[in-house]
Amino acid sequence: MTTKKRILTGDRPTGKLHLGHYVGSLQNRVALQDTYECFFIIADLHVLTTKPTRADIAEIPQNIRDLVLDHLAVGIDPEKVTFYVQSAVKEIYQLNLIFEMLVTVPRLTRLPSIKDMARNANIDEEQLPFGLLGYPVLQAGDILMPRAHLVPVGKDNEAHVEITREIARRFNYLYGEVFPEPEALVPEVGTLPGTDGQGKMSKSAGNAIFLSDDTKTVEQKVRGMYTDPNRIRADIPGRVEGNPVFAYHDAFNPNVEEVNDLKERYRQGRVGDVEVKRKLFTALENFLAPIRERRAHYEANPRLVDEIIAAGNERTRAVARETIQLVEAAMGLTYFR
Ligand code: ATP
Ligand code: MG
Repeated sequence: MTTKKRILTGDRPTGKLHLGHYVGSLQNRVALQDTYECFFIIADLHVLTTKPTRADIAEIPQNIRDLVLDHLAVGIDPEKVTFYVQSAVKEIYQLNLIFEMLVTVPRLTRLPSIKDMARNANIDEEQLPFGLLGYPVLQAGDILMPRAHLVPVGKDNEAHVEITREIARRFNYLYGEVFPEPEALVPEVGTLPGTDGQGKMSKSAGNAIFLSDDTKTVEQKVRGMYTDPNRIRADIPGRVEGNPVFAYHDAFNPNVEEVNDLKERYRQGRVGDVEVKRKLFTALENFLAPIRERRAHYEANPRLVDEIIAAGNERTRAVARETIQLVEAAMGLTYFR
């Protein structure tokens, strides 16, 4: 019997993970896996809120495998972390419906994140799906199903955890104490910019270096990186702040002395972009080497990932059944069973 506190975190299976994900969530997850009992949800039902067609769904299984593989590659231990697929745990649908009774429509309508998601998916207000409005309610189901205490999320998701807390409080008030009031764990780290320097690294912006990129691809992407556009020659003093090349050096080059020296010389116009990028490429290759090694191990036996997911689903279903029993008993929803 474990006495560790429970964590629920996860992602929508929408594609491969990149260096931004590493900085913003993966490195934190690797650090947390020893201290907490971790459930990582692969939120495929959330994909349906904006992409519900058969063609959209057909992409999900490979995305799920990629997502799990990226986690294993950065050092998530499947013995410590339970991965599970949201749609495989039917109790989440049940909780979702019950929680829909515990939150108001105006509360959801006011959330800026819903409008952002609709805008990003090119859905106008008149076409807003009920399920997209209900995104945070389904997320409450995700979080409360394993009765999680902590929810590591990005800043963009903090407001949704707040809704989960409200739903947990409301449930406990109406029916008795079943759910812990989960806390959001928002990492202090900043956002990693994209290789184009035009905003954050994002898979849909085409400015990402993926954890699964090979050496050649990384080299090409680093060589093409945006730096200081005013610096047309190496002897012109350059800007370090807001320069993505240095943001990556800060994040991935453990040789602080080298990074400080490069910055110093960059500011003085005593180093070329070529050298700064070459050293960044080396640092990224060193960072990616163990990641590639672990990936190769799992790729050598592709059934391994599928087995990890199946075992996680199984383990999660047992917890989910327990939660639904507690919920129905608390509500008195136990007749004619
Ligand atoms: P999309 O382009 O589809 O929006 P994305 O690449 O921006 O995808 P998301 O799925 O939106 O990735 O991000 C999930 C989480 O990963 C975020 O909540 C955040 O915690 C983290 N994350 C993503 N990109 C970055 C980044 N560039 N820097 C830091 N953290 C990031
Ligand atoms: Mg995004």
